[in-house]
Amino acid sequence: MTPSVFEVLTGLEQGPVAGLMSVFAFILGSLVGSFLNVVIYRVPLGRSIVLPPSACTTCNTPLKWYYNLPVLSYFSLGGKCRYCGSSYSIRYAALEFFCGCFFYFSQQQFGFFSLAFLKTVILFSLCLCVFFIDLDHWIIPDGLNLLGVLLGLAFSFAHPLSSLPWLEGSLGMRGASLVWSVVGAVVGVGFFWSIQVVGLILVKQEAMGGGDVKFAALIGAFLGPVAAFWSFLGSFFLGAMFAVPLLLLRRGGGKDPIPFGTFMAVSAVFFQVVDYCVVMGYLDEFYSFILPMDY
Ligand SMILES: [Zn+2]
Repeated sequence: MTPSVFEVLTGLEQGPVAGLMSVFAFILGSLVGSFLNVVIYRVPLGRSIVLPPSACTTCNTPLKWYYNLPVLSYFSLGGKCRYCGSSYSIRYAALEFFCGCFFYFSQQQFGFFSLAFLKTVILFSLCLCVFFIDLDHWIIPDGLNLLGVLLGLAFSFAHPLSSLPWLEGSLGMRGASLVWSVVGAVVGVGFFWSIQVVGLILVKQEAMGGGDVKFAALIGAFLGPVAAFWSFLGSFFLGAMFAVPLLLLRRGGGKDPIPFGTFMAVSAVFFQVVDYCVVMGYLDEFYSFILPMDY
C-alpha cells in the first residue's frame, strides 16, 4: 500500500526535519498570535480585521512589516512607536509569545500534520480571543461564537473521537460523533441558560451574560457534553478562586460584572488538551480516576 501524503509528512516530521518543524510551529503560532491581537482589538469596535493594515493606535501611522514582527518588534523598538514614541502594552508581545509556545506544545504532542493539532490550536485561538475580549469589554462577540460552533461541529465530523456507541450502528462513526457534538452544544446552552434563569429568580440579577451562554455552545460543540461539563465545573472553580478575593477586596458596593467567559476559555482549552491526551493514550489512569465513564 502506498503511504498517504499525511503519513509521508508525519514521517519527515518525526525524522529528518523534527527540529525544523518545532521551530516552524512556534513561528506560525506567534504569527497567528499577531493576527489574534488584531481580532481582539478590532472586532469589539466593529472594525474590519483585514483592512486597513496594522497601524499605531495613537498616531495612526501604518506599521512597516519589519516593525510588525511578532514578539521581536516589541523588543527591537523598546516597546515604543517608531513614529510618535507612544508606548505599547507588552501584552501584545506576550500574547504572541504565549501563542507560539502553545503551537509548539501542540506540535510536540500531536504532530503538525494532524487534525488533533488543527482542532486544538483553533479552539485555543478562539478561546484566546474570548479571554481578552471578555476581559476588556465584558462581551463575547456573536460572530466569534457562531464561527466556533460551526468549526466545532465540523471537527467532530471530520475527526470523530467520542460519541454514543449505540448510534454508530445506524449513523456511522462520523454521524454519531456529529450528533454527540450537537448534544454538547445543547447541554452547554441548557446548563448556562438554567443558571441564568435561576439567578434571575433568586437574586433578580443576570448571573450569566448572553455571550457566556452562546460561548457554552461553542465549548460543547468542540468538547462534547462530558468534557464540556468538566470544563464548566473548572470555570466555576477558577471564577470562585479569582472572584472571592476580588469581592473581599472591594470596598465600595459596586457591582462590576466578572468576565466569566475569560474563565470558561481557560478551562475549555485545558480540558480539550486533557481529553486529547486521554484519547491518545497519555494520562489514561489519571483521567479514568476522575472520569469513571466509558468513553
Ligand atoms: Zn505612533
